[in-house]
Amino acid sequence: GGVSIYPENGGDAEALLKNADTAMYHAKEKGRNTYRFYAAKMNAQSTEQLMLESALRRALERGELEMHYQPKLNLQTQRIVGVEALMRWHHPVLGMVPPVQFIPIAEELGLIVSMGRWALEQACADALAWQKHGLPQVLISVNLSPRQFESRTLVADVKAVLDASGLDPSLLELEITESAMMANPEQAVELLRTIRDIGVGLAIDDFGTGYSSLSHLKHFPLSTVKIDRSFINDLSQDADARALIDGIVTLAHGLRMKVVAEGIETAAQLEFLRSHGCDEAQGYWLCKPVSAGEARDFMARHLRNQFAPSVLA
Ligand code: C2E
Ligand code: MG
Ligand code: MG
Repeated sequence: GGVSIYPENGGDAEALLKNADTAMYHAKEKGRNTYRFYAAKMNAQSTEQLMLESALRRALERGELEMHYQPKLNLQTQRIVGVEALMRWHHPVLGMVPPVQFIPIAEELGLIVSMGRWALEQACADALAWQKHGLPQVLISVNLSPRQFESRTLVADVKAVLDASGLDPSLLELEITESAMMANPEQAVELLRTIRDIGVGLAIDDFGTGYSSLSHLKHFPLSTVKIDRSFINDLSQDADARALIDGIVTLAHGLRMKVVAEGIETAAQLEFLRSHGCDEAQGYWLCKPVSAGEARDFMARHLRNQFAPSVLA
């Protein structure tokens, strides 16, 4: 139940009831058989939430969404071989709202399906623009949230976007988190097969954080395993994290999957992963997520540096 007190929480019955209601909703969020005293903060929180929700409903049509890209380095060839597409929301007043804040709201409101389709379109368009600019082809990876993964229109959407853009399906990869896959493994396997049959690559994102064990990997038709950032963070102190990375690399390679490490922030982490057989690295050490134009310039610069004869040679 909800509790409000006269006169602190309202001068009349109506105000008291309204605030007791607010308190009750908060109590319900905490589970059954509990109660909450009204706090002015509760309304402030829900007002802020409502404001975010209604702003997010219009973000797409108002052109407030943008795709940023973070390059991935092949640790053998030193080439940029892919980019991860990451969504950004520039709210005119709130400024940059981080995806961890707005993606869950978009999920809840069902907006993620249209936003995700837009992200795919944008990513394909940017990938083609880089090709036209003369850059070597790179794999473009787009994140899917659980709700998109469950959407009945997913496969049709992916096909339609690829057809409309003309991007080679083998240049697109979809990243799905381990927890989204494990929510309904049988259904996931079937859906993943359908997507793979279009020629699109599949990555398991944030691997190691969910409930799946290494042995689950063999059931999913994946092209890529992305080792979660938390293991990379722990590398220097934690022998278990190092052993786990060895295990993931060995198993993934045995299953003909590629291993990407995310969240590489230091040269030491990069060196560890390279010497332990990891295929690709992504992280602030190489490049932060940047706009499509900056990503193009970064890739061009990286390529020039590779071709430039070394001063010492
Ligand atoms: P994710 O797919 O695991 O993406 C990697 C996140 O790690 C990104 O956060 C990236 O900016 C961040 N990151 C990259 N390198 C480093 C590093 O060296 N250090 C640290 N500390 N962080 C690094 P971001 O862009 O805030 O995105 C967060 C999450 O939001 C993503 O996690 C993804 O799950 C979701 N997301 C982002 N864009 C989209 C999208 O277009 N659609 C969907 N459905 N989800 C998205
Ligand atoms: Mg990702
Ligand atoms: Mg990740």
